[in-house]
Amino acid sequence: MRAIDYAEIAPLLLEWYAVSKRDLPWRENQDPYRIWLSEIMLQQTRVEAVKEYYTRFLHALPTVSSLADAPEEVLLKLWEGLGYYSRVRNMQKAAVTVMNEYGGHLPADHDALLKLSGIGPYTAAAIASIAFDIPKAAVDGNVLRIYTRLGANGKDIADPAFKKEVAQALDAVIPKDAPGAFNQAMMDLGATVCLPNGAPLCTSCPLSHLCLACHDGTQTSYPVKSKSKARTIEKMTVFLIRHDDTIILRKRSEKGLLAGMYEPLHAPGWMDEDEALTFIKELNLDPLHIERIEDAKHIFTHKEWHMIAYEVKVGFPAPEKAHHLIYATPGQISSTYPLPSAFAAYRARMGMRRRNTKNN
Ligand code: SF4
Repeated sequence: MRAIDYAEIAPLLLEWYAVSKRDLPWRENQDPYRIWLSEIMLQQTRVEAVKEYYTRFLHALPTVSSLADAPEEVLLKLWEGLGYYSRVRNMQKAAVTVMNEYGGHLPADHDALLKLSGIGPYTAAAIASIAFDIPKAAVDGNVLRIYTRLGANGKDIADPAFKKEVAQALDAVIPKDAPGAFNQAMMDLGATVCLPNGAPLCTSCPLSHLCLACHDGTQTSYPVKSKSKARTIEKMTVFLIRHDDTIILRKRSEKGLLAGMYEPLHAPGWMDEDEALTFIKELNLDPLHIERIEDAKHIFTHKEWHMIAYEVKVGFPAPEKAHHLIYATPGQISSTYPLPSAFAAYRARMGMRRRNTKNN
């Protein structure tokens, strides 16, 4: 059976990384907090989209202590548009633990990092190697793609046992004197050369002479991944309800999807105009004008929202307490109320700037 010697990849990768590394704001130094923040933001989000968020977040909450003490709405507002909000909630929980148990400094210990809220094997290895020079391989989708292409390995990358096998194989070859550079080189190679969709740029790859998939011309057959369950589809009707210069919002529940965020009113199913007017009147609002506006779709990991929407002008406000409604001006929505990007299609109509991210 053909096999490649993964021990050969480290020197080649490091040499390539020395000249090709991406210039990223979180690579300015080895501050563990900055590395932690960047790694959490980069889960599920593109590098280009993260940069602006990263800078803003770090400016507002520059230390573990400031993160531990931040009010929920400030946190969610800083994360607004990045999606997967449990990431920032878990970061705050971990920050509290770091304050209480480690004197405000992230522990220089892989297993201790792994115990912190929201830090899984990939993130623990990334922080340990980049911030503390601990030789642990960080294995994510990029690395699995490179690894399986190099070895023309058709095992299922969705299988946790295989992921563990890859981590062990790379732990055995990660250079002890440059573990952070090795992991970052893998990240960069996956992001810029061994690309996920379409053909990878093998002629620019420092590992091409070792790579079995490149040799066989079968690069796009790897990685092999078993199909995940189909997403459920939820139809809904969204209401941008205007009263004077305000839009009516409500706060989501403190638990579950998009917990604690703010949103325009919506109801399950697709309503025609008559049903929509009935819905508005049942809120004790007086609809003066209704107009169907653009449809939108948002994809979460396990579900999709398929939205139709109406913009409605109303004459007098509902009793706020009865319906937990908030009358917010565009300025307040921009500055104070964190809004999920599931409703990004309606940001401009709410007087907000569009943001360029792809998540919830
Ligand atoms: S040679 Fe091509 S397929 Fe192989 S690791 Fe490099 S970019 Fe990926």
